[in-house]
Amino acid sequence: MNADQPSPQRSSVAIVGGGLAGLAAGSALADAGYQVELFERRPYLGGRASSYELPGTAEVVDNCQHVLLGCCTNLIDFYRRLGVEQQIRWYDEITFILPGGRSSTLKPGALPPPFHAAPSFLDSTVLDLKDKLAIGRAMMALAPKLPKDDGEDFLSWLLRHGQPQKAINRFWMPVLVSALNEDLDRMSVRYAAQVFRESFLKSAEAGRMGVPSVPLSQLYGTAADYIEARGGKVHMRAAVDSVRADADGVQLCIGGEDVHADYAILATPFGGVEKLLPDGSEAEGLRNQLRNLESSPITGIHLWFDREVTPLEHAVLLERTIQWMFQKSKILATRRDSAPSGSYLELVVSASKTLVEKSRAEIIEMAVRELAEFFPAVREATLTKATVIKEVHATFSPTPGSDAFRPSQVTPWPRLFLAGDWTATGWPSTMEGAVRSGYGAAEALTNSASNANRFLVPDLPAKGLMRLFG
Ligand SMILES: Cc1cc2nc3c(=O)[nH]c(=O)nc-3n(C[C@H](O)[C@H](O)[C@H](O)COP(=O)(O)OP(=O)(O)OC[C@H]3O[C@@H](n4cnc5c(N)ncnc54)[C@H](O)[C@@H]3O)c2cc1C
Repeated sequence: MNADQPSPQRSSVAIVGGGLAGLAAGSALADAGYQVELFERRPYLGGRASSYELPGTAEVVDNCQHVLLGCCTNLIDFYRRLGVEQQIRWYDEITFILPGGRSSTLKPGALPPPFHAAPSFLDSTVLDLKDKLAIGRAMMALAPKLPKDDGEDFLSWLLRHGQPQKAINRFWMPVLVSALNEDLDRMSVRYAAQVFRESFLKSAEAGRMGVPSVPLSQLYGTAADYIEARGGKVHMRAAVDSVRADADGVQLCIGGEDVHADYAILATPFGGVEKLLPDGSEAEGLRNQLRNLESSPITGIHLWFDREVTPLEHAVLLERTIQWMFQKSKILATRRDSAPSGSYLELVVSASKTLVEKSRAEIIEMAVRELAEFFPAVREATLTKATVIKEVHATFSPTPGSDAFRPSQVTPWPRLFLAGDWTATGWPSTMEGAVRSGYGAAEALTNSASNANRFLVPDLPAKGLMRLFG
């Protein structure tokens, strides 16, 4: 390199979007010595994983409960990087409840993977022996290797593998619809298999469930301090209007002003990227690709009661519209540490297409009625506050064939990169997928600057008999 040229580490990088993808890329690059400027159009960070004060109340609510699993190695690395890993509460057990209150708990035992959860699974009272044997057979078909996406949907696969309706309704559907935010007949076999292989079969550690114990924007807002402590700058309420790229760098237009950077990463949702791509024929192919991606909604229903209605911190609710219950007043550190006064629950409905057109009042009425079927104490309790948050474009749909439309983080413009849960990471639309995309874009950028850095961390190793399958 010519001694007059700036070293790659001092190059400037503009990042568009302060969701997890942009924050992960920005933090990694700031750490590697790049001068990072991040532009986020909203007044808070976190993107689709954020929180805000509910108008007219003193309540800070997450846009929706977000959970992670032990197999989310890059997300956990990001938490360690920011020093917030202690703000995740980990759970080894998941309780499944039927209307009427019958419940079963899935938890790891002493057997080696993939059989570590088998004893608690065989004890389950929400499934018959016939269902358990059928599920066991299907799991063993998924264990050896990740199937290719050959266009088949997972419901067809389940029926082809002899799964009874009860096994589908009480096991496959609750696990997968919440993990992939799509209906079984619209999800690819590859992604469904990945959920079970990575989280259920590989090891007990991989299947642990983590829940943030602080509001999401507080958790991810720490990334701004991290970037700024390393000489970068995070701009809020800074919407990027257009982007131009050439061989020497990238020009961003922000509120009528031009900003130059040596490199840029577009880390907005795929709909936003389509509009920001530089003009020219190179952009057309990418735009056509992105137009094939579809999104799916999630609805969060937040209920405050004057008393506790269940001792559980979370549970899967079977065979009703509401799918998960999180007792935020037991999970949030600020609530746990204060004197108990009532309880705050969040109910989550994934792939909530049927709720998109319903009014807030209709959804709250339905949710309270259904909740009382699981927890009878709801009938005696008074609902003191409630709100509904609909995220209509919550995640992209992992439909059969959708992988073909997910672009790489490298673009036809040598100094422009993409990040976002929708880029080609091999992961579904999750916080882990977003962080992988951000680390991946940051790695690609440093490679192109002849200053290769490694930010992505490996998957958890398979344990027990799963080592035979890799
Ligand atoms: C309701 C809901 C529940 C979910 N539950 C889970 C869960 O339990 N577990 C899990 O792992 N994942 C969950 N997800 C998915 C997870 O939130 C996303 O996969 C992840 O947050 C996506 O991050 P991202 O950075 O790719 O995109 P985003 O979070 O969408 O970030 C993009 C950012 O770009 C900004 N932006 C857009 N245009 C511009 C512009 N022109 N200029 C400047 N800034 C711009 C946006 O404001 C936004 O902040 C959930 C998502 C939703 C919506």
